[in-house]
Amino acid sequence: MEHRDVVVVGGGPAGAAAALAARRTGASVLVLDRADFPRDKVCGDGIAPEALDVLAGLGVDPGALTAGYAPAPRLSLRSPGGATVERATHRPSSVVPREVFDARLLAAARDAGAEFRRHAVRTVTPGPDGVVVDGVLTAGVLVGADGAESVVRRVLGLARNPDDRMAVALRGYAPELPRQAGTQVLVTTEQRWPAYAWSFPLGDGRANVGYGELVSGGATRAGLIEGLHRLLPGVEPEGLRAHRLPLSTGRPRQPDGRVLLAGDAASLINPMTGEGIFYAVLSGALAGSAAAAGAGAGAVHRRALRRRLGGHHRSASAASWISRWPVVMDAAFRAAAADQRVFDDVVALGLADGRLTARTLVAAARHLR
Ligand SMILES: Cc1cc2nc3c(=O)[nH]c(=O)nc-3n(C[C@H](O)[C@H](O)[C@H](O)COP(=O)(O)OP(=O)(O)OC[C@H]3O[C@@H](n4cnc5c(N)ncnc54)[C@H](O)[C@@H]3O)c2cc1C
Repeated sequence: MEHRDVVVVGGGPAGAAAALAARRTGASVLVLDRADFPRDKVCGDGIAPEALDVLAGLGVDPGALTAGYAPAPRLSLRSPGGATVERATHRPSSVVPREVFDARLLAAARDAGAEFRRHAVRTVTPGPDGVVVDGVLTAGVLVGADGAESVVRRVLGLARNPDDRMAVALRGYAPELPRQAGTQVLVTTEQRWPAYAWSFPLGDGRANVGYGELVSGGATRAGLIEGLHRLLPGVEPEGLRAHRLPLSTGRPRQPDGRVLLAGDAASLINPMTGEGIFYAVLSGALAGSAAAAGAGAGAVHRRALRRRLGGHHRSASAASWISRWPVVMDAAFRAAAADQRVFDDVVALGLADGRLTARTLVAAARHLR
């Protein structure tokens, strides 16, 4: 049977980062994806600068990943009760269609020596000496980076997120909003809270627009379209498609052994913002490095995830719990409008590995009405 040191299921951001990291340890790496690249992925296309930092650390030139798409240096937020704040972010975000971004990133992994094959994985059988994939291939370690509906996660016997820790969002493309250039716009509402719409400018006059809410609210396609129109009136997007977002508040424990989970398969999406690419590339990078531990890889990966993201996850869960009361979000947004440092703390908590800082809590308490 064909053998590779590391087989990665899924060639999205988590899988490509895992492949890059595993190649740096000298492992033979095969990436399997059911799709050929370029392929679309339903997403807001917003890429936090910290995601590019992780990829730079794996030897990928961030400029090559984002070339042709103007950065978005500003962020505008509207709270459920209507408090608004618009400021420059600490560092600009990028907005690159995933069809472009993911193909570029996977190409970088292939340039680094990872092989790619189109193959839809159906069965994964872990054994003491390796993992058998669909009865045709063995892997020293297998990384499940196969997204929100992960087959690999199911094989590990891990349930999917409960509905109150799973969001669903719909996105399409539309002309930019008036005077939006360079500004990522997020609009929240008390109706069906927690829910929000976004418009992220691609820099060519178009924007990625969308709307999402929790699955537990009984979301339907018609309801999501209605939410989008309510929060972004007058916007008529093309190509609307929906996809699920497994939030980090419902993440499973990484088991011991030779099968690792990364990205959406590991439920790492930020529960406040729906941001998942930073967590996908970070967890992918950690999985690719942990693979060198063979049968001990699961335990190594679990510890690395906890070390790198444990504090952030505790903060994000606490913030998500507190924000069940929209008045708290209103207060936090007013505090962010009054103080750039609070704004920066809130952005780091929502888009990267930031914490719920004492500064943010005190400032939000002061702005409670
Ligand atoms: C509407 C929406 C908006 C979002 N907006 C943002 C945003 O603006 N910024 C942000 O950071 N995050 C956003 N996210 C989250 C982000 O899209 C995900 O967190 C991110 O794509 C996770 O990357 P991944 O590599 O784990 O999974 P994916 O990108 O889903 O990649 C998984 C890959 O696995 C492949 N695959 C699946 N099953 C199999 C199989 N059985 N065999 C072989 N291959 C398989 C798929 O074809 C796919 O290529 C959004 C999500 C949604 C739904």
